Amino acid sequence: MCGIFGIYPHKDAAHLACLGLYALQHRGEESSGIITRNGKKVHLHKALGLVSDVFDEKIIRSLRGELAVGHVRYSTTGSSNIKNTQPFYVRAKIGDIAIAHNGNLINTLSLHRELENKGALFQTSMDSEIIAHLLAHSQNKDFKDTIIWSLSKLEGAYSLVLMLNDILIGARDSFGWRPLCLGKLDEAYVLASETCALDLIGAKYIRDIQPGEIVFIKKDGLESIKPFKKTHHAFCIFEYIYFARPDSNIFEHNVYMTRKRLGAQLAIEFPVEADLVMPIPDSGTYAALGFSEASKIPFEYGMIRNHYIGRTFIQPSQVLRDFHVRIKLNPLKEVLDGKRVMLIEDSIVRGTTSRIRVKTLRLAGAKLIHMRVSCPPLKFPCFYGIDFPTKKELIASKHDIEWVRDFIGADSLEYLSLEGMLNSMPLPKEHFCTACFTGDYPATPSSRVSKTILEK
Ligand code: 5GP
Ligand code: MG
Repeated sequence: MCGIFGIYPHKDAAHLACLGLYALQHRGEESSGIITRNGKKVHLHKALGLVSDVFDEKIIRSLRGELAVGHVRYSTTGSSNIKNTQPFYVRAKIGDIAIAHNGNLINTLSLHRELENKGALFQTSMDSEIIAHLLAHSQNKDFKDTIIWSLSKLEGAYSLVLMLNDILIGARDSFGWRPLCLGKLDEAYVLASETCALDLIGAKYIRDIQPGEIVFIKKDGLESIKPFKKTHHAFCIFEYIYFARPDSNIFEHNVYMTRKRLGAQLAIEFPVEADLVMPIPDSGTYAALGFSEASKIPFEYGMIRNHYIGRTFIQPSQVLRDFHVRIKLNPLKEVLDGKRVMLIEDSIVRGTTSRIRVKTLRLAGAKLIHMRVSCPPLKFPCFYGIDFPTKKELIASKHDIEWVRDFIGADSLEYLSLEGMLNSMPLPKEHFCTACFTGDYPATPSSRVSKTILEK
């Protein structure tokens, strides 16, 4: 996962990009970067860390120009080091190229090999670098044909914000796995992963970039083309369940309202007597609100979040992850003591968070703990950009619900049904990719490595 942002033409491009990235920080906390272009000069600043650590006023002021592209990274492919930060910038025959990519390509290995045979020297382990090499290798004279040819070689998920000389480009793969929206601020067009970034900078939402669409934003306006064969949509359903910010509209619909419907549906599917409904904050909060409304069981905060600690998943190593899980939430004995608790979580991935939370609630005096999860069991790895790397790590792929319940230590555990989840969505079910739940992959990886992951 990653957050991407672009703006052109605006005199405060770098400032606005920085604010946009703040709004998108939840999509990746590992590294942050902004590139700008001023005349023929390019200014790039990127580093490991949060937007607030990486940028300050002086740096922003040094990023001159009216065109800016920004990126926050959550590593899925490629390891976590400074080389793998984005925007990825190269100078090629066609000029300056900068790439901010969200999603995961699935024909990486074959493209890598093909390009290396032609003499490409890869600097990073990011699949996004491939796009730069394709652009550089294109034999097309026209910049539009260059982009179309390069993107036509890609398989898998991409939402892209590109800079090609003084043109800002937005593109989304034909399945549309990852979101990308278009906004307007003064004379400038804005591209962002989620609408919450437009809200923060006061830009007006215009529309989503359509699956298979490429927009070229020049000083004098925007041109849109749809050069690729149409296919069915495969919007990532997990964006609604967990990933996107609740105050965003993605795929043209609001995330908060969708999460509340998921919670309400859970209450319908698995009613049980309880004294209170509580979320595992923050991600379970919206489904818990929906559950409470539908079941008429009062909503309480049974644990309070320390907001100065980052997301538990974001640190790729397991040791750090365990530590973060404990430090983040403090239980409220006054609310929990002697109570029958309905605990709501948006999803169970590895099961480690839930296990620790349930233990904490017991220590704080909870008498009964019923756990409900606002999506079905996650059983299959994601090739399109969500961090569910191998089957082995997904607790529900190896074990049944009773085993997971026992591992977590809850008195009961139920997951929302697939039907129930799909019916709670703001769009008909044909629009979604549900591969992580069903194993029905809209496009299967051609590379041997990905196949191995699937079999593990
Ligand atoms: P686990 O079951 O692995 O202990 O963790 C589940 C928790 O991680 C849930 O609270 C869910 O909100 C969160 N989560 C689910 N998927 C992701 C992800 O891809 N990235 C991050 N950062 N958190 C996730
Ligand atoms: Mg969570």
